[in-house]
Parts: sequence; C-alpha cells; structure tokens
Amino acid sequence: MSDSRVEPITIKGNESSASVGELYTRSFTPGERMARAGKVLAVAWLLALVTAFIPIVHFFLVPLFGIGGPIMAFMRYRVDTVAEKAHGICPECEQTVDIELDPADKLPKWTYCPACNKPVQLMYHGGPTQAAIPEDE
Ligand SMILES: [Zn+2]
Repeated sequence: MSDSRVEPITIKGNESSASVGELYTRSFTPGERMARAGKVLAVAWLLALVTAFIPIVHFFLVPLFGIGGPIMAFMRYRVDTVAEKAHGICPECEQTVDIELDPADKLPKWTYCPACNKPVQLMYHGGPTQAAIPEDE
C-alpha cells in the first residue's frame, strides 16, 4: 500500500509574511516502486516494438525506446516519495489555496498562488537552509 502523509510546511510570501500549510506526499513501498518502474519499461518497449514497423523512423526510435526504457524505469524506481499538493493559506491574499505540485518537486520551492498569482515559497519549518529530515514513525 502506498502511504499518504501530511507534513507541516511554511508558506512564505515576498513581503516576508508567512503562514502555515500542509504538504501532501505519497510514499511507495519497494513493490510499488518496482511496479511503477515495470510499467515505464513495458510502455517504452511496446513503443519500440510498434515503431519497429515504421520505415526510417525505426532507425532512431527503436534504439531510443530500447535504451531509454530501462533508464527511465530506473529513474522511476529511485523515486520513493512524490509530492502531491500543498494546502494552506496564501500569505499574500489570505485565501485558502491548494497548490498542485509536480511529483518531482522538492521543497523549498517557489511557486505561484493559484488565487492571486503572487509568488510564494513553500518550505519546511525552519527555513530553506534546513533539509528535509526523515521522521521515524
Ligand atoms: Zn494568494
């Protein structure tokens, strides 16, 4: 089972105001990471197989998918935690907002408030210099 977690974060605006928010992340078990990697590899090799029947483009697409597949699968396998979204109060407009995050996003991160479009920084408590400390559960 993948494990969803909520971590407290600070949402900081340009005018040094700050508010608290929550970061939603999802962690994968080794089995799920393998399944995710396997899916990437299957899609890449399927594309390699399909493009093998297309003249001319198969000269570069087949090696691209054939070699790129395992590389992409390995990169996918190394991902054990992905960020889903941040939830909190925007320090600039004071509205409750949900900020969708890219799975590859790492905090601290500058983004834009979806309500007022002003830049806001998402970070763990303690400021941007402090790296994420894994908590024991
Ligand atoms: Zn805002």
